[in-house]
Amino acid sequence: MIEAGLPAPRQGEPFLPGPVFASKYHLYGAPETSPYTYGRNDNPTWTRFEEALAELEGGPSVVFASGMAAVTAVLTEAVLHGRRRRPVLVMPSDGYNLARTLVRDHFEPLGVRVRSVPTTGPYDPATLRGASLVWIETPSNPGLDVCDLRTTTRAAHRAGALVAVDNTTATVLGQRPLAFGADFSVASDSKSLSGHSDLVLGHVATRERAWADRIRNFRKQQGAIPGPMETWLAHRSLATLALRLERQATNALGIARFLRTRREVRGVRYPGLPHDPSHEIAARQMRFYGPIVGFELASEARAERFLRAGRLLRSATSFGGLHTSAERRARWKSGDDVAPGFVRLSAGCEDLDDLIADLGAALDASRR
Ligand SMILES: *Cc1c(COP(=O)(O)O)cnc(C)c1O
Repeated sequence: MIEAGLPAPRQGEPFLPGPVFASKYHLYGAPETSPYTYGRNDNPTWTRFEEALAELEGGPSVVFASGMAAVTAVLTEAVLHGRRRRPVLVMPSDGYNLARTLVRDHFEPLGVRVRSVPTTGPYDPATLRGASLVWIETPSNPGLDVCDLRTTTRAAHRAGALVAVDNTTATVLGQRPLAFGADFSVASDSKSLSGHSDLVLGHVATRERAWADRIRNFRKQQGAIPGPMETWLAHRSLATLALRLERQATNALGIARFLRTRREVRGVRYPGLPHDPSHEIAARQMRFYGPIVGFELASEARAERFLRAGRLLRSATSFGGLHTSAERRARWKSGDDVAPGFVRLSAGCEDLDDLIADLGAALDASRR
């Protein structure tokens, strides 16, 4: 983890060389003779980060300008440019909202047929028949349902489909989709992976080099390339991922347990809670249960008062950062199918006792 993607020690050189800013490189003769040609094609800072990701994911990786750019690359290559004329894409009905609207607005008009299935399944033969790609998100955002990666991947492969896992909520350290047989592991690195709320980035990892080459070629042609600065910051942050995830998971579990003791809080979900509906499967495939806790307050007004009353708790979207944050998901007009008082909280790395004191005070203040 801490060593991933670092060059071999050399006298007088830094551990992780800084970002390389270049639109072009010295290039004589045939372009194939140089590893670096033009800034949209390749960059040494991407190479180092991709080597780190490949080591952790267990397969060649390609970094993108955002999680959505990574999602788009996989959908384009695995569904649109597959062998079928009217490809079928199986997608979670409760997954990340923007992936679903991207498919609705830009892939369905090109002839892609979508079959929606809840994250918990069933992934039965009728659902999987003729599918080009099965898209999985586990734990799902924001509902925190899970699906069994091993059995779902097996069933999809039997039906002749490829499998992509959006691994954003878990990160590669929390769960390794390729090890469970998935063909693609896709993630937004804007969340826990980089973890400092200071950049937007994404990546795709693949089991086969040929797929990584296609995905990389798509990046070059389509142009959703990451900035060297963002890529370098993400690589630097990767070294502390284990420390951050461990603390976030401990805090999230402590917060979930605390929320369950409060009468005004309903429907607390955290895959690390022993009685959570997701726990049994999550325990089989996850190393860390992640930072996200879901729960409900009685109304929109109550949830908004709670979010404004927090001092350590910041009101913000997204998740996985050092600072504990939360939001009422229903505030997004085209958003998730959740109750008006549903709150998605992302546990940060603060002291747990301080956090619980702050959340308790905010819940008290939300009462009036
Ligand atoms: C945030 C997120 C994305 C999109 O990533 P960006 O980096 O914001 O483009 C995709 N999937 C999930 C599950 C996410 O939470």
